[in-house]
Amino acid sequence: MEIAAFLSDKAGAISVVERQEFPYQKALGPQVGGVTMKMLQNKGVKFHMKAELRQGSSLPLWSFAALVLAPLLAGTFPNSAFLKGTSIARDASGAILVDLHMQTNIPNVFAAGDVVSFPVALLNGEQCSIHHQQVAEVHGHTAALNMLKKEKELHTVPFFWTTMFGKSIRYAGCHGDAAVPSYARWRDPHSSAFPFRDGVVTAAASLSCDPMVALIAEALYSGKQISKEEAE
Ligand SMILES: Cc1cc2nc3c(=O)[nH]c(=O)nc-3n(C[C@H](O)[C@H](O)[C@H](O)COP(=O)(O)OP(=O)(O)OC[C@H]3O[C@@H](n4cnc5c(N)ncnc54)[C@H](O)[C@@H]3O)c2cc1C
Repeated sequence: MEIAAFLSDKAGAISVVERQEFPYQKALGPQVGGVTMKMLQNKGVKFHMKAELRQGSSLPLWSFAALVLAPLLAGTFPNSAFLKGTSIARDASGAILVDLHMQTNIPNVFAAGDVVSFPVALLNGEQCSIHHQQVAEVHGHTAALNMLKKEKELHTVPFFWTTMFGKSIRYAGCHGDAAVPSYARWRDPHSSAFPFRDGVVTAAASLSCDPMVALIAEALYSGKQISKEEAE
């Protein structure tokens, strides 16, 4: 998406191909994805949604001056094929299962970043894969301390940020692998919204509404529970 935005005033034509109905859908939800998609469409970017590129694909893509391929986003699929034949536990998607010390099921073997599924405190310890730069950094830090026998448990609130056409997109927290977040209050252009689970806020998203999401992240980090009523 960032590449498409960057190229939008430079390339003759740009197409984004994506398996989901909206960009960012799995990570940020359809509302955030829908707004960013509209922002790009307004700049002439074409979207081919619920589509996949295959050899001999009938999508009329190859004639375009520029082509942006979304479904191959690094991190969307865990790159763990090299572990085939090992006893390192993975989930059905291939993500390596780790505990709060970033340790795999094999003692003293650690993993971190996009490739893992880890227990998420905000989701009561549910195992999830979260593909954000900040999460990968905290994972690496935690894994390194545990390699040094510092006995450090992962403690973080996932935080995603990006900028598109001068608008900041922020997302803190998480909604779980199974659920797609749904926002009651999301609208363009200045918005904030919160997905819930069991009546408490597990995440917050915003578009050009800083520092709202950073403040929510800080509250969640300190262990505060924000009820649906408080958020509304
Ligand atoms: C286009 C794009 C935009 C993004 N934008 C944002 C954003 O705005 N905000 C945000 O928070 N996150 C963003 N992300 C996600 C973020 O980049 C990742 O979550 C983060 O880079 C994950 O770090 P990592 O170290 O786990 O994996 P990577 O950064 O993917 O690093 C893994 C490295 O391992 C190497 N590797 C893989 N397999 C092997 C092997 N078998 N042997 C040796 N080396 C191997 C790879 O070449 C790579 O260098 C974006 C990702 C993409 C692709």
